[in-house]
Amino acid sequence: MKVNFLIVGCGFTGATFAERIATQLNKKVLVVEKRNHIGGNAYDCYNEHGILIHKYGPHIFRTSSPKISSYLTSFCSWRPYFHKVLALVDGSLVPVPFNLNSVNQVFPKNYAAKLEDELIDKIGFNKTITIHKLFESKSPLLQELANYIFEKVYLHYTKKQWGLNPDQLSPSVIGRVPVRVNRDDRYFDDWFQAMPTQGYTVLFEKMLNHPNIHILLNTDYKEIVKESTYDQMIYTGPIDEFFDFCHGPLPYRSLEFEYMTLEEEYVQPVAVINYPNNFEYTRVSEFKHISGQKHSKTTLAYEYPKEYVIGKNIPYYPVLNDETKERFRKYEKEAEKISQKVIFAGRLADYQYYNMAQAVGRALRLFETRIMNG
Ligand code: FAD
Ligand code: UDP
Repeated sequence: MKVNFLIVGCGFTGATFAERIATQLNKKVLVVEKRNHIGGNAYDCYNEHGILIHKYGPHIFRTSSPKISSYLTSFCSWRPYFHKVLALVDGSLVPVPFNLNSVNQVFPKNYAAKLEDELIDKIGFNKTITIHKLFESKSPLLQELANYIFEKVYLHYTKKQWGLNPDQLSPSVIGRVPVRVNRDDRYFDDWFQAMPTQGYTVLFEKMLNHPNIHILLNTDYKEIVKESTYDQMIYTGPIDEFFDFCHGPLPYRSLEFEYMTLEEEYVQPVAVINYPNNFEYTRVSEFKHISGQKHSKTTLAYEYPKEYVIGKNIPYYPVLNDETKERFRKYEKEAEKISQKVIFAGRLADYQYYNMAQAVGRALRLFETRIMNG
């Protein structure tokens, strides 16, 4: 097949490139995807009970970039949705990110009042702070608080999720979930938080519905790349795999999802409950909270972290620390040598902990700089 662009992977990164190239440049694109569906990890579908589930774990859309939200708004309408997460701490469900409500819930009244005053005095009302920064506080009260939150919320969850201690990971990983000096119980504080009304897969179908875009599912690009004629490739798979692991494999963390459907309308008070200190799973998600779907039954997903084994399971999360970043830079140098022919982008090709909006934003930027004006 002769096309202008061969795109490997049909997640948010690949789909954004395909849409831009087809509609803005009127050029032909072949998207090759090894799974049997479009959407990458954001793929959703109805299960046998008719409940909309996310096959690869709960995906909540949020961004603070008007450019990204308005780009996606061309392909879907949105249902406003503020994601809430509770963590089971010593038998009680407390809001995470840990905030003033969490402080008041877990500590005796007078002590909580002191902590609240100290947080507002030393950090400032409505500010957020990472747990690492809270540890650096000179206030003994805030150091005690940091110890408490670290032990009850981060330490055991992180060990379970990554199979590593927090100090073996880049601080940016647990820094994604800060401590908040306010009563905002939402998981995210982005300006735009919403879910595509008809789900992600319908959003992808709309993005990709163009005569210039041809999609080949169930196909590893290696099976077709030699027979394909294209000017440029956009590669969104794992970068180490592209270069045959010449600098050694980049570590990833994998997951296993166990789904359970119950004859009840709702089971949990919120979409996600985290289990930092108990059980083998890290969190349980109840999809109807996220989708807003009305149904007499409900489906839950239990998330079990797993070691990633190449070729056996899915590389979900890059394991970011100084050593892995250094190894990634070696692959980045390989990528630079072939940059005229191949653009690397996405969570796996950039080896970055992107959320969906960041993946879209990166693709939009690279389209402008490397393809339109390249
Ligand atoms: P992917 O979606 O991974 O797409 C890459 C595609 O390339 C895959 O479909 C893969 O099959 C394909 N591919 C790889 N190699 C080949 C090959 N050799 N040949 C052909 N095809 C290939 N983000 C949020 O914004 N909010 C959330 O709530 C959220 N929750 C998440 C929960 C979990 C459990 C995980 C793992 C991620 C979550 N994310 C969330 C992140 C989100 O999934 C990513 O940001 C997004 O999927 C990145 O898109 P991508 O296109 O770069 O990668
Ligand atoms: N984390 C934690 N306890 C929690 C929630 C998060 O220790 O209750 C840490 C954990 O290391 C996790 C990281 O913060 O991997 C990022 O959390 P996030 O919820 O952003 O993870 P994701 O949704 O990407 O799996």
